[in-house]
Amino acid sequence: MTEYDTVSADVEHEDEIPEDHPRYQDLLTRHRIEKGVEKGITHLQGMHAEGRGSAFDYLLGEETIPSADAAERAAAAHLLLADHPVLSINGNVAALVPGEMAELAAATGADLEVNLFNRTPERIGEIAAHLRDHGAEDVKGLEADARIPNLDHQRAKVDEDGIYAADVVLVPLEDGDRAEALDEMGKTEIVIDLNPLSRSPRVAEVPIVDNIIRAVPNMTEHARELADVDEAELQRVIDEFDREAALEEAEERIRSGEL
Ligand code: ATP
Repeated sequence: MTEYDTVSADVEHEDEIPEDHPRYQDLLTRHRIEKGVEKGITHLQGMHAEGRGSAFDYLLGEETIPSADAAERAAAAHLLLADHPVLSINGNVAALVPGEMAELAAATGADLEVNLFNRTPERIGEIAAHLRDHGAEDVKGLEADARIPNLDHQRAKVDEDGIYAADVVLVPLEDGDRAEALDEMGKTEIVIDLNPLSRSPRVAEVPIVDNIIRAVPNMTEHARELADVDEAELQRVIDEFDREAALEEAEERIRSGEL
């Protein structure tokens, strides 16, 4: 028995989770997803996605490994260099990092667009309001006046002046079909996913194998650091990032189990 065995699985507020708990980030993530489901912004299936992510994060030691940090820096450089960057928000992302996504959007000049696997007008509206409560200025995704080619009707819906027109898109915790369809549209994709073997990071130009609660604030920090550098320097940061090596390093870390 440790003192932590007394932490309830059902805390009312995240402040009740002790920050020095060995599985603090897991408890925090789970708590935020549960609240998201309660509020109606996260679908119940989001719990399963979270469970899968949690297992990988355990094996990564719940830390940002060096290759993920390099990916986060390259991702920040892509967003800063883009003509029309868009950050895609689903129910898990909205529950886990609403304010952090608003900050990343502000730091990079990107748009935020709500994009749901289980799409209903109510949930889209709830998520947009939730993002605005956390500092987002403009939220796209409500028009849904364009379609991603080669995807079934519901999941293909996007805003014409949002994801459809974007040159660089951040798609965290994305399902493989959509990630592949966006890739086929020729977009530069940045994917955040704790599973390096999942299809989404495998099609991404920049796969970030890290927990989204660490990845997004770190991307914002990199974006602020890179805000005043010239385009050649941003391009150098992008060119130096090796996506294959990053995927291999993450897989190796998970398989070796060296915590
Ligand atoms: P595929 O890409 O092959 O369709 P999948 O069916 O596992 O994979 P989803 O369940 O749609 O994909 O997406 C969930 C993904 O998000 C999982 O790979 C999971 O590891 C990852 N994930 C879950 N929670 C987090 C988190 N907090 N941070 C980063 N990644 C996460």
